Amino acid sequence: MQNDVAPQAPLARQAEKTEQTTCCIVGGGPAGAVLALLLARKGIPVMLLEEHMNFDRDFRGDTVHPSIMQIMDQLGLADKLLAIPHTQVDMLSVQSGNQTLKLADFHHLKTRFPYIAMIPQVQFLEFITTEAKGYPNFQLVMGARVEKLIEEDGYTHGVQYRGQDGWHEVRATLTVAADGRFSRVRKLAGFEPIKTSPPMDVLWFRLPYKEGESRETGGRLVPGHILILLNRADHWQVGYVIPKGGYQKIHAAGLEAFRQELAGFIPQWADRIETLKEWKQISVLSVESSRLPRWYRPGLLLIGDAAHVMSPVGGVGINYAIQDAVEAANVLSDKLKVGQVRLRDLAQVQKRREWPTKAIQGFQNALQQRVLATVLASDQPLTFPLLFRLFLKMPFLGALPARLVAFGPRTVHVKE
Ligand SMILES: Cc1cc2nc3c(=O)[nH]c(=O)nc-3n(C[C@H](O)[C@H](O)[C@H](O)COP(=O)(O)OP(=O)(O)OC[C@H]3O[C@@H](n4cnc5c(N)ncnc54)[C@H](O)[C@@H]3O)c2cc1C
Repeated sequence: MQNDVAPQAPLARQAEKTEQTTCCIVGGGPAGAVLALLLARKGIPVMLLEEHMNFDRDFRGDTVHPSIMQIMDQLGLADKLLAIPHTQVDMLSVQSGNQTLKLADFHHLKTRFPYIAMIPQVQFLEFITTEAKGYPNFQLVMGARVEKLIEEDGYTHGVQYRGQDGWHEVRATLTVAADGRFSRVRKLAGFEPIKTSPPMDVLWFRLPYKEGESRETGGRLVPGHILILLNRADHWQVGYVIPKGGYQKIHAAGLEAFRQELAGFIPQWADRIETLKEWKQISVLSVESSRLPRWYRPGLLLIGDAAHVMSPVGGVGINYAIQDAVEAANVLSDKLKVGQVRLRDLAQVQKRREWPTKAIQGFQNALQQRVLATVLASDQPLTFPLLFRLFLKMPFLGALPARLVAFGPRTVHVKE
């Protein structure tokens, strides 16, 4: 990641400044930023604390699914968001040997946005927070690293953060942890996620385009490896799926060996693979899949990756983080307005979001164990089973994968 972490004030026992808000959100990723915007629109005082000084976050996923575009449309922001330069993916296909399978065709979805918009996450977050800044009750603090929870009588009353100018205390009716997969707040609250162990990791890097070549986003299955190719306007974003923990071995063998391995899989790309000159051009995603058994306690709610880390299958992490934010705003806005959030309101947020999360994680796990692990362990090209190919061609059933990727098991709308 290229984020600049703010120089922090030295450790101190007492906060130098105390602020008051209604909802204090820790983490300015997709979940935190969208929740802040939704609450700000409702006139609720909200403070968003982000530890980095900017939203720059390379390879963190730039996929804005149809469900998110519909939410943006409801907020009157879709056209403005789409004015940001981006590419649109309207089909996900996978190729193995000389077989190509259309896994998800978004063309036929009943939506104004039948595609995944590939919008750089940095620009998406800047867009959302700029919109939120239009509301006087919204406050964004960059370079604010939350390190403590304020706990009294078994209730979370806010946080303490280290900023550039010292310790601050924020007191709030509700604290929301949207601080990502390594959530500090989750640790401070003593919450332990249930983890499953996906059999893979992913190496992400860029490769240049060649004039006249097909620009179809999709996967390529080659014996022992999986390649993900994402069309990014002026380059390919490539995901190279490797067996879990395999990066050390690849790194130890050296960059030249890695380049040759890649060129072996896509010989026609051999010349452009030469553009990989340093390991720092390659980002490692340690694939994880986890979920908290409980997403809340008095005064505190966890959403997004802090509550559940999604496997990259289907690229749904951002989608689910934002859907959590929308449900949290739907359930909690009225309660926050009167300053009374009960435990059962927080339980309601978990209840609405937990089953779609479980359902899609179950689907991802099955795919990882039955298909991806087989490809990674095999020295033969995978042949797609006839039944599966027929299933994808059926009029209603064949559209299911596209609907599942685009919206999840349940479509989420902003409650006005
Ligand atoms: C390499 C990689 C590739 C990915 N690719 C995709 C993809 O293609 N599509 C997709 O949908 N998802 C992808 N994901 C997953 C996606 O990034 C997450 O699911 C999504 O960003 C979760 O959003 P979030 O808001 O919950 O958390 P995050 O996006 O992780 O945001 C958390 C924020 O909290 C801040 N923070 C952390 N600790 C503190 C603290 N103590 N105080 C203050 N702030 C703090 C962080 O700086 C960060 O800005 C990818 C993830 C990785 C790592």
